[in-house]
Amino acid sequence: MAEIKKEIVIIGGGPAGLTAAIYAKRANKDMVLLEPNLIGGQLTWSSVIENYPGFKSAITGMELAQNMKEQAESIGVNITAAKAVKIDFINSTYIIQTEKDTYNTQAVIIATGASPRKLNISGENEFIGKGVSYCATCDAPLFKNKIVAVIGGGDVALEEALYLSEFALKVYLIHRRQGFRATAVLEDRVKANKKIELVLDFTVEVIQGDSVLRRIKVKNKINNEAKEIKVDGLFMFVGLNPNSIIAEGLVEMDENKFIITDKSMACGKKGIFAAGDVRKKEYKQIVLACADGAIAGLSAGRYINENSY
Ligand code: NAP
Repeated sequence: MAEIKKEIVIIGGGPAGLTAAIYAKRANKDMVLLEPNLIGGQLTWSSVIENYPGFKSAITGMELAQNMKEQAESIGVNITAAKAVKIDFINSTYIIQTEKDTYNTQAVIIATGASPRKLNISGENEFIGKGVSYCATCDAPLFKNKIVAVIGGGDVALEEALYLSEFALKVYLIHRRQGFRATAVLEDRVKANKKIELVLDFTVEVIQGDSVLRRIKVKNKINNEAKEIKVDGLFMFVGLNPNSIIAEGLVEMDENKFIITDKSMACGKKGIFAAGDVRKKEYKQIVLACADGAIAGLSAGRYINENSY
């Protein structure tokens, strides 16, 4: 186990972390970005991105992630495949433990993002990988000419229902009320798509099958009507939970464990910043995660300049 000294350690390699890294590196700071998984975070699950400025036509999440990674590496950002498991703050130094090494750093940027929320309904865990999925980009091709259902009424549910309709024979979009949270343009496209059938005011109560998923039981929230829908696949897009466990006890969080920051992305304790979807904020967009990352990178750089020891 090596002990490594850095000025800034960035935890998380999604758009926020990568942008923070670009800004910290350009400020000439000795920094490292730790990411144990595929670089890009939630980007890598996104089938199509149409609202990230600078691209005349849609780009896949994977492509955008790869572009960001290559840009960061081209200026010398050190991306290390390691999972940060613990952060301690001792004598004005952050001690970050990974499974292999220990990093001692003056500043840390938490950009660990968020993960898909589970519904925790009967059969959900049992059929993960046997029909239940949280990633259309990963699993849509498995459902060519099959019947799938999507749960949720946000941007992710509608975007991925549209993507799934390119493979599946039919897509049920099940949402617990009439109004959608998603952007209007997505709602219009979903409503115009002949393969997508809206199942509104319904919640999924039970997921059933044998060796694979076969059917779901749904219930109307208004009149209690219950019915069964035969499906081969069920995609859950009911929001996100922050990946903030590493910062518990270290920084302030809201009731849902999103990290509270000020406008400089500082977390109320010196030298620690948070950026992207792990942070409490109103809008979650790739461009805003990048903006958070830029601010956090600049703020951490300024903190080092003002507090070098
Ligand atoms: P979201 O916007 O929070 O939407 C979650 C959806 O799941 C809501 O429609 C919600 O219903 C429903 N839901 C939550 N709990 C449920 C439950 N227990 N049972 C049934 N339905 C439930 O989450 P998201 O779609 O994952 O998006 C996350 C963030 O990323 C959002 O801020 C979104 O705008 C952003 N995003 C943006 C883009 C883009 O701009 N292209 C793409 C992807 C994501 P209610 O509406 O009734 O609460």
